[in-house]
Amino acid sequence: MTHSSILTAAGLDLSDLSGGSLAVHTPIDGSEIARLAETRADDMSAVIARAQAAFRHWRTVPAPRRGELVRLLGEELRAAKAELGAVVSLEVGKITSEGLGEVQEMIDICDFALGLSRQLYGLTIASERPGHRMAETWHPMGPVGIISAFNFPVAVWSWNAAIALVCGNPIIWKPSEKSPLTAMAAHRCLERALARFGDAPEGLSQLVIGGPEIGAALVESRDVPVLSATGSTRMGNIVGPKVLARWGRPILELGGNNAMIVAPSADLDMAVRAIVFSAVGTAGQRCTSLRRLIVHESIHDDLVAKLKSAYASLPVGDPRESGTLVGPLVDEQARTRMLAQLEQARSEGGVVHGGEAVEDGVPQGGAYVTPALVEMPDQTDTVRTETFAPILYVMRYSSLEDAIAMQNDVPQGLSSCIFTLNLREAETFLSAAGADCGIANVNIGPSGAEIGGAFGGEKETGGGRESGSDAWKGYMRRQTSTINYSAELPLAQGVRFDI
Ligand code: NAD
Repeated sequence: MTHSSILTAAGLDLSDLSGGSLAVHTPIDGSEIARLAETRADDMSAVIARAQAAFRHWRTVPAPRRGELVRLLGEELRAAKAELGAVVSLEVGKITSEGLGEVQEMIDICDFALGLSRQLYGLTIASERPGHRMAETWHPMGPVGIISAFNFPVAVWSWNAAIALVCGNPIIWKPSEKSPLTAMAAHRCLERALARFGDAPEGLSQLVIGGPEIGAALVESRDVPVLSATGSTRMGNIVGPKVLARWGRPILELGGNNAMIVAPSADLDMAVRAIVFSAVGTAGQRCTSLRRLIVHESIHDDLVAKLKSAYASLPVGDPRESGTLVGPLVDEQARTRMLAQLEQARSEGGVVHGGEAVEDGVPQGGAYVTPALVEMPDQTDTVRTETFAPILYVMRYSSLEDAIAMQNDVPQGLSSCIFTLNLREAETFLSAAGADCGIANVNIGPSGAEIGGAFGGEKETGGGRESGSDAWKGYMRRQTSTINYSAELPLAQGVRFDI
């Protein structure tokens, strides 16, 4: 299929894809595939006003009825899975099965949110006063701004969108300027669901196209009470304080620097498969990609040998071809950064295997690389930095305590894991004295989370939680009510105030 036919198959109209100021390139061969009109910064106040008007209606629609919209979205996504997955591959370079997996994640969160629409449970609380009842109720918050990163161009939106919509909130989405086409195609699915739903207010879901300055309008507006931002820690450092300064609620999903501890008892064959998928999948461009491998000294050489041989046979190439496991980096800048980080690692004593630009047997114009395995003498500053590329730093440890200290000794706190068959080691890793991350796994890599759990991380990862479990509470306001059905007016704590 040509680039244009992939876009039209996903419901995009080619006449909307030219003549604008935002150039969109495919990482596959670097060619320009669209030139989009951008939302004007001075249109943003009208966009936000439309969302506020939609909120006044949507908050009164019963939550199970709001769930019906998300059910329809799930149906539309099921029907469009192949076409939307192909746009993910075209626009951000994911291999076919990962592009499809991203859409599957959207379908899964719609199912979850549909069930949730009948389970936005509050509490009843025992009152200390006779003839009184206390309750806790959850109410919609208002428009939710969603700023998303290029590497999960649609799944992260759907985590926010499906939950925000059942919680009674309109949504305004500013996707990455590197992946607006996938966003447009996904939004078409929601538009079809809205048409079938029938009576949703105009402006319930809006898509705005552009760079940071368009995102900034959402960040700065008091009429956008929840701002969910996914991207680099650098972006979160700007966005988080601004949202807090206007008393908004930020949900931040920022950079990760995820580690695996491999203990002496680990099933090494299983560990190798988990390591290679987590470190190399999505060309190392997942927030949860494995970047640090902390290996017990007794098995270090054996594991490194197995990894070197697995890395040697990894097929790098066009992400749409069956058999390819490593597609391109998002752009040339990402490749330059990767190669520079490897130089830096060498200067700190690292021994680098792989990590070279690939020009043969791949589409010309794309930024292809062989994944890098780097044996490091220590956890240096370079290792502590997130580089968004397939670089895996390997280090040794002698005691589990040291390994956990090393796992925690980075600024980020997203995902972590241990491979061990030893119950004491596994439980210590998961204990209060164990990994300090939002996600901690046993005998499974750090990437590829299911939507049922709350997703997010600590420290410079931003502290936000999205997706499953009770992450929905971040999109609602909690109201505590005391109801007096007696004929007396007793005060709490036995206070007397007789008049
Ligand atoms: P990025 O920070 O460059 O951009 C992310 C988004 O933020 C884009 O939409 C961008 O336009 C917007 N943005 C940037 N500066 C802004 C500002 N000052 N005001 C408002 N909006 C602004 O990130 P990226 O390169 O697209 O994505 C890669 C990064 O995202 C990595 O660090 C990765 O770890 C992180 N990420 C984190 C998660 C997570 O859930 N923790 C998920 C995916 C990606």
